[in-house]
Amino acid sequence: MTHPVTLALETVLRRTAGETSGATADYIPELAAADPEGFGLAAVGVGGRVFSAGDTERAFTIQSISKPFVYALALSELGLDRVHEHVGFEPSGEAFNALSFDPAGRPSNPMINAGAIVTTALVPGVDAGERFERIRSALGAFAGRDLGVDEAVLASERATGHRNRGLAELTKASGALVGEVDAATDAYFRQCSVRVTVIDVAVMAATLAGGGVNPVTQVRVVDPLVARHTLALMASCGMYDHSGEWGSRVGLPAKSGVSGGIVAASPGRFGLGVFSPRLDAIGNSVRGVAALQLLSEEHGLHLLDPSPGFSG
Ligand code: GLN
Repeated sequence: MTHPVTLALETVLRRTAGETSGATADYIPELAAADPEGFGLAAVGVGGRVFSAGDTERAFTIQSISKPFVYALALSELGLDRVHEHVGFEPSGEAFNALSFDPAGRPSNPMINAGAIVTTALVPGVDAGERFERIRSALGAFAGRDLGVDEAVLASERATGHRNRGLAELTKASGALVGEVDAATDAYFRQCSVRVTVIDVAVMAATLAGGGVNPVTQVRVVDPLVARHTLALMASCGMYDHSGEWGSRVGLPAKSGVSGGIVAASPGRFGLGVFSPRLDAIGNSVRGVAALQLLSEEHGLHLLDPSPGFSG
């Protein structure tokens, strides 16, 4: 008999499958080549149970879903105060690749590109290669397996990443960026090109939801306080300029990426991952937003809602 959580995921996929608006990201040419029909959803409980439906095997690049996890790594290494000497806490109200800086010259938050590049640069390492290896290993610890890089997407990011290099130059000029622009952007391009599945993403979220312990491997990846700080910024800034409406309609800390993935977490209960490559104008997966919204509505997942939902 199908488990009720699997049934819930399958039902959501079926009910939102007809939402075919939006388009794959094309400013990174390799992402435009993704099969737009891919659609998968996974839920992982903080007790380690894994549930999934749809395209659960399909790998996609993590893109901006990497940002909260690299932020968590930087917090683990440096602590909240030192990290936030370089990057702000506030929603930008602008696009993910906007020139959003606070009066002190810090990018508004670590979930937009400018803030993520600054955060990546805070991860210790003698060069981009060593820094990226630490990031790859941390992302793998969150996911519970070794994660590789999609070389074609990486080449595409590098070839077209002029705006990200420009953002890095501006953060260098303001003093927010530590080290060299090229070392920061190269590690950032590589982190965006790490390959994951929806199950990986759900395990990563469940690790944050469980206070920093990976529920599948039982390895402590970050401290509970780091997990909480990370979830807090996902809640306020994770869906870019849709974060406010997302907070009203879905009510879970989340982060989207331009390959079409979204990670979301319910603290103390479970992590979710969804993937569907067509994006809206803000850069969030159209079907991913629709699927998580329906799941939240149907099962009472909103964190500010007093009714209990499911837990794995
Ligand atoms: N690699 C992408 C970029 O830097 C990540 C952005 C995103 O996923 N929103 O533009």
